Amino acid sequence: MVKPFVGVPSGDLSGCCGYAPDLDQPGCPAPATVHLRVQDSAWGMVALPTCDAHLGIAESAAMVLGRHPYGPGCSSAAETLFFPTHCEAGS
Ligand SMILES: [Zn+2]
Ligand SMILES: [Zn+2]
Repeated sequence: MVKPFVGVPSGDLSGCCGYAPDLDQPGCPAPATVHLRVQDSAWGMVALPTCDAHLGIAESAAMVLGRHPYGPGCSSAAETLFFPTHCEAGS
């Protein structure tokens, strides 16, 4: 995986940006503003919260399939359905 990368898919529902400078580094503490759905070569299709500052990095680190503003539904559940405009908790 190329660096900088955008963190691991952890099921982290904190609502914070998913960026981390390295695997053993703490992640970005900024609140997420954009939710991306990306196809990553290592992780497959993942939903990725990111802040404004790291949006460009997230976009360049993986193929972006969809995006919407990060909202309450984005962190509501581990099983989340990604829609073009929002997320909804899966059943
Ligand atoms: Zn960030
Ligand atoms: Zn979302």
